[in-house]
Amino acid sequence: MSVHVARDLNDALDHISSATEVTVLAGGTDLVGLMKDGLARPQSLVDLTGIEGLRGWSHAKGRGLRIGALTPLVELETSDALAKTMPILRESLRDAATVQLRTMGTVGGNLLQRNRCWYFRDEGTVCWLKGGNRCFAIDGENRYHAIIGARDCVIVSPSDLVPAHCNAHVYLRAALRPPRSISVKAAVSPWMTYRIFRTIR
Ligand SMILES: Cc1cc2nc3c(=O)[nH]c(=O)nc-3n(C[C@H](O)[C@H](O)[C@H](O)COP(=O)(O)OP(=O)(O)OC[C@H]3O[C@@H](n4cnc5c(N)ncnc54)[C@H](O)[C@@H]3O)c2cc1C
Ligand code: SF4
Repeated sequence: MSVHVARDLNDALDHISSATEVTVLAGGTDLVGLMKDGLARPQSLVDLTGIEGLRGWSHAKGRGLRIGALTPLVELETSDALAKTMPILRESLRDAATVQLRTMGTVGGNLLQRNRCWYFRDEGTVCWLKGGNRCFAIDGENRYHAIIGARDCVIVSPSDLVPAHCNAHVYLRAALRPPRSISVKAAVSPWMTYRIFRTIR
């Protein structure tokens, strides 16, 4: 496995566009666990943690609240200024994971963490989301799964930030594609997860 530590966003995008299969690493609190469990086998990792420009938040008049993908969760939770602007962020994160995980974990990684479905997390089970032809949760163990609006895969996002960001948009910068934004709901949907899992896992 190769690891590239990106100097800045352009360096990261250059590296991503030059390799065939790349996985990005932020705090690593989800990805490293998936690697240990044999659920992710990245051939090429791009470490984003040194990109200062993706860290922090701003609230400029007329531009809304903008939060960088590499902002540690603990920063959203502990900032009094942010709690005045958007109190739901602090409330949503207070019970998420542990202080250690919230210190390492980032906003981008939290939104894109893999789901907690037990079939998915079992290395030997190949369900629809892992390229198989059926979802075992539909007729199986499906507590905490979706009950409305689900089709091929009935997961719900495990991110505590998602309910707080329901009306927010994710600003995407991808290699070889123009910048674009999509809703948080679309970004964490099973279909988008499927595409990410099948293409850049
Ligand atoms: C024991 C445990 C308990 C937890 N409990 C909770 C909980 O109660 N609530 C909750 O919300 N979360 C919980 N989590 C999940 C935790 O919040 C996430 O692991 C963390 O937020 C992920 O952030 P990270 O920066 O470490 O991401 P990483 O592990 O580095 O990455 C996660 C995924 O996101 C992708 N990614 C990361 N950053 C970017 C980016 N900038 N652009 C594109 N892709 C990116 C990576 O490629 C990877 O696929 C728990 C985790 C653990 C291990
Ligand atoms: S809910 Fe999704 S992740 Fe879970 S078994 Fe069904 S297809 Fe797999």
